[in-house]
Amino acid sequence: MKCMICKHGEMEKGFTTITLEKDGATILFKHVPALLCDNCGEKYIDEKITSELLTKAQEIVKNGVEVDIREYTPAA
Ligand SMILES: [Zn+2]
Repeated sequence: MKCMICKHGEMEKGFTTITLEKDGATILFKHVPALLCDNCGEKYIDEKITSELLTKAQEIVKNGVEVDIREYTPAA
C-alpha cells in the first residue's frame, strides 16, 4: 500500500506511540499497532483502535489521573 500523503513511501506495519490530551490530562499509549510510511513517517491508525484509545483515555481522566503512560493492549 502506497502512502496517501507523500504518494511515494510504502506503508509498513509497525508500532507507534499515541498521545491523547483530554481535559488537561495527558495520556500516552505505547506500542499501538499502526501503518507507518517509510518515506514521510505518516502514520495510520485503525479507526477501531482510535476509538478504543479514546474510551480508555476517558476512563483514565475520570479517575483523576493527569499524566498516564501505558502499554496498548488490544481488547480481547
Ligand atoms: Zn508518506
